Amino acid sequence: MDLGHSADTLALQARARSFAQEVARPRAAEIDASEQYPWDIVKALTDARFVGMTIPESLGGQGRSFLDAVLVIEEMAKCCTVTARIVVETNMGAISTVMAYGSAEQKQLAAALVLAGDKPAICITEPDAGSDALAMTTRADKRGDRYIVNGRKHWITGGGVSRLHLIFARVFDERGQELGVGGFLAVRQENEDSANGLRVTRREKTMGLRGMPEGELVFEDLEIPAGMALTPPSGLRRGFADLMTAYNSQRVGAGTVAMGIAAGALELATDWVKEREQFGRPIGEFQGLQWMLADMQTQLTASRLMLYQAARSRGEGTAFPDPMLAAQAKIFASEAAIRIVNDALQMFGARGYSRDLPLERMARDVRMFTIGGGTAQVLRTLVAARMLGWKLPQTRDGYVESARPLAAE
Ligand SMILES: Cc1cc2nc3c(=O)[nH]c(=O)nc-3n(C[C@H](O)[C@H](O)[C@H](O)COP(=O)(O)OP(=O)(O)OC[C@H]3O[C@@H](n4cnc5c(N)ncnc54)[C@H](O)[C@@H]3O)c2cc1C
Repeated sequence: MDLGHSADTLALQARARSFAQEVARPRAAEIDASEQYPWDIVKALTDARFVGMTIPESLGGQGRSFLDAVLVIEEMAKCCTVTARIVVETNMGAISTVMAYGSAEQKQLAAALVLAGDKPAICITEPDAGSDALAMTTRADKRGDRYIVNGRKHWITGGGVSRLHLIFARVFDERGQELGVGGFLAVRQENEDSANGLRVTRREKTMGLRGMPEGELVFEDLEIPAGMALTPPSGLRRGFADLMTAYNSQRVGAGTVAMGIAAGALELATDWVKEREQFGRPIGEFQGLQWMLADMQTQLTASRLMLYQAARSRGEGTAFPDPMLAAQAKIFASEAAIRIVNDALQMFGARGYSRDLPLERMARDVRMFTIGGGTAQVLRTLVAARMLGWKLPQTRDGYVESARPLAAE
């Protein structure tokens, strides 16, 4: 299908496909079994310049579009989910926030770390503030030329391996008055579990994506220079809503990982039904499986187009993809991917259930994407809020403009 990609973009996609098949795929099962963050893959991705692609050229990046990043992520996810997530978060997560809202100093710091292979961590979720992220209690108190941060975050991707952390916290001035929610950049020193009041206290035992640590982080009097406070242009009062806009890029990236896993599973299933024979013929000759394949392909194509459209919606003057398109694409792609991988596994019969094949790993990995980065339910609320033009407190993205007052206001 000709989607109008430029020759340069097609060359990038081809390079990503080769990398995924030759470097990432052979490591995928071992990364899952060992539950170790793949530093060798990080180095290879860095050498091949798949990290920091979207960082502007003036800061050492390639100034690539989100669509370019999405095409790379899709290829990686077909072969190794952890590799794909590293590409997401070095191109479309916290790094996009810093590139959009950061000072020159913050941008240089973040660009240098990411281009050297660091996968930044975004720290929003707390034990009592998940979907209701605004219930966060982590606080940053201004003291002279610095902020003192205290609190606890959990399910932080990259906890214990990431160096750059973007921490969301309630901001208080010297008099103890709350000003809103801001972002703070903290750098964990290399090869240390703690740095200046930032401690990784736990690693979650995850169902899938096992090579990517999910950590609990505790901040105890973490000192952050005032120059590392990241305030969105509209100020702290709307700080949370603006910072959460950054999640639109992460959502497109995460949805693409799900879609890529599904594409990988469908490729395997399509080959298998031509090869496997029962009742004296390839099982692909049975209409029951043909219609399953057709439904899988239809859902995959729709997911792909929605994600490409959402990625393309980031353009001149808009640092992030359109929130409606990003939310719809992630809802659709993540739910479709779970169904597609499940059906692919089914087509392999008992073999699909074996750890000798990648289907069971893909089924565990893909399950995450309706949860992390805003659940499918909460994203639906975001879509509905924008359709209705109402402020709804349950969007996890702060508030949209509306004439209808919040009950709580
Ligand atoms: C693998 C993984 C990686 C993650 N990485 C990060 C990270 O890097 N940084 C970070 O900050 N967070 C991260 N998270 C956390 C993630 O953002 C939260 O898990 C998510 O926002 C949901 O919060 P919760 O788990 O507390 O669920 P809850 O908010 O407790 O929700 C429980 C259930 O209730 C539903 N629900 C809640 N509110 C509503 C509502 N208003 N309407 C309808 N249904 C509702 C939810 O959809 C869900 O099904 C990660 C999570 C996972 C699983």
